[in-house]
Amino acid sequence: MSAVRHLYVHVPFCTHICPYCGFFKTRNVPGETRGFAAALLAELKWARENFDLRTETIYFGGGTPSALSVTQLEELFAGWPLTAREFTFEANPLTVSARKAAVLRAAGVNRASLGAQAFDGETLKMLGRRHDAEAVRGTMRILRAAGFDNINLDLMFALPGQSFERWQRSLSAAVAARPEHISAYNLNYEEDTEFFARLSAGVWRADADREREFFLRTGDFLARHGFEFYEISNYARAGFESAHNRAYWRGEDYIGIGPGACSTVGMERWQNIADNQRYVETLTRTGAPPREIEPLTVGVKNSERIMLGLRTREGVTLTALAGKDGTLRNLEREGLLVIVNGNAALTVKGRLVTDSITELLI
Ligand code: SF4
Repeated sequence: MSAVRHLYVHVPFCTHICPYCGFFKTRNVPGETRGFAAALLAELKWARENFDLRTETIYFGGGTPSALSVTQLEELFAGWPLTAREFTFEANPLTVSARKAAVLRAAGVNRASLGAQAFDGETLKMLGRRHDAEAVRGTMRILRAAGFDNINLDLMFALPGQSFERWQRSLSAAVAARPEHISAYNLNYEEDTEFFARLSAGVWRADADREREFFLRTGDFLARHGFEFYEISNYARAGFESAHNRAYWRGEDYIGIGPGACSTVGMERWQNIADNQRYVETLTRTGAPPREIEPLTVGVKNSERIMLGLRTREGVTLTALAGKDGTLRNLEREGLLVIVNGNAALTVKGRLVTDSITELLI
């Protein structure tokens, strides 16, 4: 069995629920969080007994991992057996105290990903967020003081009613806050959210041309300020690309623990049941996670590798694109794709139509 080098930990709790969010999460009330840390440790024990888990990267995502209290984090990390070269913890502004940041550092966390989303009050209000720009800067100061020298800011663009100028001001403020990494996401209208309902009712409408313009302006601005594009939504200062996410985009194996978490190892993928109480109850009773397993085929894995790889700066190996020579030549001729060092990668023009090119190549 080959080693699994990447661990994802899903913490499905949030202090409040945002109207656009499609992730599995619940409010962090005692009925939902009871037994969570012990169950997570039990699942980690199960994973280490069943797989050769040698973590190069660990990523705590959610939900809002920083919604866990200092006491909950201390309970979790007291029994936590793993460390990693890159150990990321997602946090929201207003949920990180100096003490919490110190607990994270002591556990080996060395990268923080902060859900800023915007730096102007009007946009944050529309997104249903409780923080303001000063709260983002204040949380960054706490993280820096605790020794974090690798911080990502998550931002969102192409929001209803958001002008290019307002987005530009958010982006400038984000750069001025001096993060090492910026993730800039095009708003996705996820099913079963308030935002999706407003889109379906015709109150809002998505506009692909406008979204492309936001994307281009974002890439231009960040490149001019020292952030290099390396994935369709991700930009980093040299040496600060996320190793965890890059492994995922390259199709490497990973294990996910926590309610609703996904794992892919070899030719199997599984997802834990997205139900906190059932997750805790099953792990307490059996020592194994409640999960649904799906076998993977070579074809599915190859298609995923193409789909994810085309979103990255490096692109996809020509081996994965065997049999597509004619299509590749046409795309190259149209300036949508370049072939370098045995890899096919999209140009800026190609990135504007990533989904259509992906369809042609899988
Ligand atoms: S966007 Fe983040 S903070 Fe908001 S509900 Fe989703 S996971 Fe929670």
